[in-house]
Amino acid sequence: MPVLAAELAHFEYKVSVVVIGAGACGLTAALAAAEAGADVLVLERDARPTGSTSLSTGLIPAAGTKLQRAAGMEDSADLLARDILNKARQQSDAGMVHAIAHAAGPTIDWLTESHGVLFTLVEGYLYPGHSVRRMHGTPNRTGRELESALLAAAGKMQIDIVCSALATDLYATPDGRVTAVRFIRPDGSSETIGCNALVLACCGFAGNKGMVREYIPEIADAQFCGHVGNQGDAIAWGRELGAALADLGSYQGHGAVATPYGNPINWGVLTEGGFQVNALGQRFSNEVHGYSEQAVETIAQPGGFAWNIYDEIRERPILGFTDYREVMALGGIRKAPGIDALATLIGVPDYALQQTFAEVDAIRAGKRADPFGRDFGNTRPLEAPLCAVKVTGALFHTQGGLVIDTDAQALRGDGSKLPNLFAGGGAARGMSGPSRWGYFSGGGLLTAVTLGRLAGSNAARLARAAA
Ligand SMILES: Cc1cc2nc3c(=O)[nH]c(=O)nc-3n(C[C@H](O)[C@H](O)[C@H](O)COP(=O)(O)OP(=O)(O)OC[C@H]3O[C@@H](n4cnc5c(N)ncnc54)[C@H](O)[C@@H]3O)c2cc1C
Repeated sequence: MPVLAAELAHFEYKVSVVVIGAGACGLTAALAAAEAGADVLVLERDARPTGSTSLSTGLIPAAGTKLQRAAGMEDSADLLARDILNKARQQSDAGMVHAIAHAAGPTIDWLTESHGVLFTLVEGYLYPGHSVRRMHGTPNRTGRELESALLAAAGKMQIDIVCSALATDLYATPDGRVTAVRFIRPDGSSETIGCNALVLACCGFAGNKGMVREYIPEIADAQFCGHVGNQGDAIAWGRELGAALADLGSYQGHGAVATPYGNPINWGVLTEGGFQVNALGQRFSNEVHGYSEQAVETIAQPGGFAWNIYDEIRERPILGFTDYREVMALGGIRKAPGIDALATLIGVPDYALQQTFAEVDAIRAGKRADPFGRDFGNTRPLEAPLCAVKVTGALFHTQGGLVIDTDAQALRGDGSKLPNLFAGGGAARGMSGPSRWGYFSGGGLLTAVTLGRLAGSNAARLARAAA
């Protein structure tokens, strides 16, 4: 992924803003840039855009949206920022977190009202780290649906998206001003396009086994549920251009991916009072710290798997999730009339599962403390029919990337701006701090759409000034 000297670039046409990547970040950036009057071109390596966005559940946290207000939900950008910073143990950039939290609500309203992306508020349970209900998702709670809605919006704005176009090289002046991008087609032919500004929206490096092993060895052998095309290109270009990079050891994992199906099981069944046991029928962690940090807990269990244990009451709010319905249709959700029958069904020792249920109920009733430090709150004991699903831990996407400012413009190590380079979503440093435990539920798409919008509009502004 080299950066070549600007004078080597030969291009016949030029646009104001080139966006690399057609996931949530790239498409949001393109919408914002086009709205600001720029001519935009999006380059996407896949024949049909299927980045992490399409593979995701598509849920985006935001505060103060019209949907929240209509539901009578009290929330604020400051509370959202506080929740994000608490989850990251104050180890992420507070200024960026505040900027993103304040942009979140307006971005959801803007996508809905100006671009026809239909969201509803997720009701029925809280996500780890969220003080109030603030997850917004498209009706069937799939990233495919979100991606399709964004593509439709881009189509309405007549934004050019060139698919099967793998961006390989950037051309730049010695001070880091990107003047052109070269991309190759599946037949090996290549084209170069000039630009006044560039938005890197090609996510992180989770699809690059070598980089994952180098920067995040703890998750390198886990299942990978994200997009294999995300090879760390933004990081490679950023490094060559002199951009600062941060938090490369940070990532979003997930500790309850249904196995062997590969679909994430919604965390609501756990936050509302369910729990996880291993093959020995024993709990092994505080399940509600967060789903990201739970990935390594789950894969550390005998056989590398666990069972989510819950009941039909906790299942009800997630029946609308396509991911869950698919696992159910394939027979992955086991149900039994009692603990003994459930133990037999899932093959864990009967006496151990009985004991785990008894211990959890004693913790719920305040008769003993949880050895893992979990507060079961006011949750009620599980009731028959009981449910179980076999799960494992997985890597979803990486959280480290280019350091940007609140305009989503890339910065050098000394804090100065690179002349015309912007980044967002998985290409930019996330809000999680340095590790797995800082990931805030929904933080991936939150940074994709808010930073995408900021990157697009600011790239358009800068491109206009440069024209
Ligand atoms: C199973 C799963 C569930 C998830 N659920 C949620 C959720 O509910 N909420 C949430 O907030 N986050 C969720 N995430 C994380 C979320 O999907 C990502 O954080 C988000 O989609 C990142 O958006 P993006 O636009 O930066 O990247 P992507 O959507 O991955 O888009 C990047 C695009 O760039 C393209 N590309 C890469 N390199 C090049 C190149 N050199 N040239 C051209 N194109 C290139 C890729 O093909 C891809 O289409 C989930 C992730 C997974 C895997």
